[in-house]
Amino acid sequence: MSRFLSTVARRTEPYVPGEQLNQPDIIKLNTNENPYPPSPKVLEAIQAELNGNTLQRYPSPTVDPLRHAIAETYGLTKDHVFVGNGSDEVLAFSFMAFFEPGKTIKFPEISYSFYPVYSKLFNISFEKVPLNADFTLPKKQFYNSPGGVILPNPNAPTSIYAELDVIEDILRNNQDQVVIIDEAYIDFAGPSAMKLIDRYPNLLVIQTTSKSRALAGLRVGFALGQPELIAGLTRIKDSFNSYTIDRLAMAGATAAFVDHAYFSESINKVIRTRESTVHTLEELGFEVLPSDANFVFVKPLHKDAKVLYQQLKNRGILVRHFDQADIREYLRISIGTDEQMNTLFEVLKQLTK
Ligand code: PMP
Repeated sequence: MSRFLSTVARRTEPYVPGEQLNQPDIIKLNTNENPYPPSPKVLEAIQAELNGNTLQRYPSPTVDPLRHAIAETYGLTKDHVFVGNGSDEVLAFSFMAFFEPGKTIKFPEISYSFYPVYSKLFNISFEKVPLNADFTLPKKQFYNSPGGVILPNPNAPTSIYAELDVIEDILRNNQDQVVIIDEAYIDFAGPSAMKLIDRYPNLLVIQTTSKSRALAGLRVGFALGQPELIAGLTRIKDSFNSYTIDRLAMAGATAAFVDHAYFSESINKVIRTRESTVHTLEELGFEVLPSDANFVFVKPLHKDAKVLYQQLKNRGILVRHFDQADIREYLRISIGTDEQMNTLFEVLKQLTK
């Protein structure tokens, strides 16, 4: 470690994302991307932006066309919408805007591994709340959190969705703190907490175009909340990167919010494949947690999870294994195309014989 590093850089533990192997024939089921491409309208919009020869000009600092399209989709106004470079950036801004050093925030012990990274980066103390034995949320443990709450719904990597009444109880019992619901996978699950925005000024919902809208490569995430919270995020953003997302991302993501038909078709395909995957994996001797996401969280009953992860990798199939004590026996498998899943099943049959 360089002696020139600041205290912040020293105490930061960089997040390690899933491997990105670039062989064309690899079956990549480790980072919960959409196996299908985005709407053709997205590509047309990006091409039109390029044809306009505008890249020497800065993009709109207020991201208005995209905020409009998102607001229209969800029956909100653009003042309810904040946009950033992937929901990871929106999460970072939210930690800066709403969480306070010295006031402990709470998040589930098993959840998105970026939360402790950001907490350390911004010097925010945190308490990891253990989940129930069946991996559901122990909602009361999140009540009256001194500094606020952040949780993914559906949870990652467990894939379990908490019903809105659970989220509402957590909101009601934290009225003086911000509760962030990280809904990266919500489009594959039940209703979004955005339904509660009108009633809860302390609610911030964060979503992404990386999963259901198949735009992981474009890096566009967004937050929804009452305009006062959104204005707080904008204050932070303006002092860091006043132009937010680039012109091509804005053009492409805006088109993705307009093509509703393509969106629902692609989601339904993933959900159908998820249902058959759950069934087949159970037959193959896996315990499968109830999934409301575009991935499943599974425990091989006859083999060590890490060994299986490595054997799959050796055969060109990437899944995710976490070296974390309480989930070491599990694998997270993203839902791919039917063809990719069938290959996975064939390989698993050979490996678990
Ligand atoms: N939240 C959760 C729970 C996630 O799993 C992910 C994706 N790894 C993200 C946020 C970030 O997604 P992105 O930055 O691509 O929007």
